[in-house]
Amino acid sequence: FLKGKTAIVTGSTSGIGLEYAKLFAAEGASVVINGFGDAAAIETERAKLEAASGAKALYDAADMTKPEEIAAMVARCHAKLGGPDIIVNNAGIQHVAKIEDFPADKFEAIIKINLNSAWYMMQAAVPLMKAKKWGRIISTASAHSLVASPNKSAYVMAKHGLAGLTKTIALETATYGITVNCISPGYVWTPLVEAQIPDTMKARGMTKEQVMNDVLLEAQPTKEFVTVDQVAALALFLCRDEAKSITGANLSVDGGWTAA
Ligand code: NAD
Repeated sequence: FLKGKTAIVTGSTSGIGLEYAKLFAAEGASVVINGFGDAAAIETERAKLEAASGAKALYDAADMTKPEEIAAMVARCHAKLGGPDIIVNNAGIQHVAKIEDFPADKFEAIIKINLNSAWYMMQAAVPLMKAKKWGRIISTASAHSLVASPNKSAYVMAKHGLAGLTKTIALETATYGITVNCISPGYVWTPLVEAQIPDTMKARGMTKEQVMNDVLLEAQPTKEFVTVDQVAALALFLCRDEAKSITGANLSVDGGWTAA
């Protein structure tokens, strides 16, 4: 149902972002993938997306810490593929430390990548969507857009900000056929979660098993990790015409975490 539409997914060389790109491509959308990683592995994924969609798939290396690269990516997408009709603000990093031990450069990077980049993406894409009177803006927020955990000050701050940005731009675009929503997963098994286990072990003096069961899944009443396909399926639904009245929402996919 996305034939003729173009989607940009930031941070889509891995994890949840790559799954969004796969589901959009499977529905016939052209996709722009973005993020870092091994060039050959990225090219393999890009080629698979193109084969699956029967439309174009491009890789764009824009660095989400750099506003001018973000604007240039949206402009390149518009020139080469049209659109973007769908943008997904998904790039994100994590760092786990007490505030007094938190390196300022990590703090700045988290705010730039997890929050500011979404603002720049929207600033570049909204005029193009308004002109077409259709658009879907989706951001991967987090359960940490609604509740906090210790040792994640920058991440929690960025994700709460993303939820506020979502509401604001939903109001600004409401009469233009554009919807703006965020999806707030609990713990999803991806490289981002795997990578924070050693830091949490250090910060809390725990074993790997203790971090997985007593910290990560502690918060999740289902006692199961969310999967990338469960998150991406919701994004796909938000792109349907039936979802046109869902805007400004923060949609939890967290195994009951924020119900507690
Ligand atoms: P991941 O580490 O697998 O993917 C992150 C992606 O962002 C990668 O493609 C990476 O290359 C890209 N990226 C990092 N820095 C970048 C930069 N400067 N410019 C461009 N791209 C950059 O992580 P993931 O778990 O798939 O996370 C995706 C999003 O989901 C993040 O915003 C994260 O906060 C959010 N999220 C994840 C979970 C979880 O449990 N995994 C839960 C809630 C929210």
